[in-house]
Amino acid sequence: MSNSIKAITFDLDDTFWDVKPVLINAEMKTRKFIEDRVGKLEWGSWEDFKIIREKLIFEDASYEFDVGKLRKKLLLMKIEERITDPQAALNLSEEAFKLFFIERNKVDFFPSVLDELEKLSQKYVLGCLTNGNANIKMIGIEEFFKFNISSKDVKANKPSENHFHEAQKLLDVNRDEILHIGDHPVNDMQGAIDYGFKALWFNPNKEVWNLEGLEKPPEFFSWIGVTEKIDCL
Ligand SMILES: [Mg+2]
Repeated sequence: MSNSIKAITFDLDDTFWDVKPVLINAEMKTRKFIEDRVGKLEWGSWEDFKIIREKLIFEDASYEFDVGKLRKKLLLMKIEERITDPQAALNLSEEAFKLFFIERNKVDFFPSVLDELEKLSQKYVLGCLTNGNANIKMIGIEEFFKFNISSKDVKANKPSENHFHEAQKLLDVNRDEILHIGDHPVNDMQGAIDYGFKALWFNPNKEVWNLEGLEKPPEFFSWIGVTEKIDCL
């Protein structure tokens, strides 16, 4: 076991599973659920979504870091195009979001993730730091982790220091005794390194490191054998 690492924090989406197909499936099922009850709707483009999101954040800053609240609001706005009774619209949006959330937590792990988490959890204290709203209990991996800190919990998104600060508080070890593993160069690697954590980059697509001003951290391309790799860091 490594002499210096006592705890490991992990990003969730795109680190343990590919999140894009999960979100597309959840979104499609939720839209169908709503349309089955109110008729066909125009869901708008990605550009439309970004404009509405910015407008909502301008009115209420919590939409920036609470993705569940944002999604519920967007669903409600769509439903309100067809249902004028405010309570009925709200009820349907809540039912729709429940369905979305169940589907959002049905994931396919990258090969060996569960085996490696099992091994790592016997050697290190583990925690999760996510900007999303994946639920480790619903996903079935809660047993491996001491905590799962979301952006909603700390009112900010990585790379800001809030997740890392809260993790260190809960782990109660020195910053450089914590290793953070994630896929995102800025949110995960830069955020963790700036706060004083060690960092290990999950880079399954063998992307080129292009963050100026930050040396490329150690990387890995597949979860197979990652416990041994961490032991040697
Ligand atoms: Mg990620």
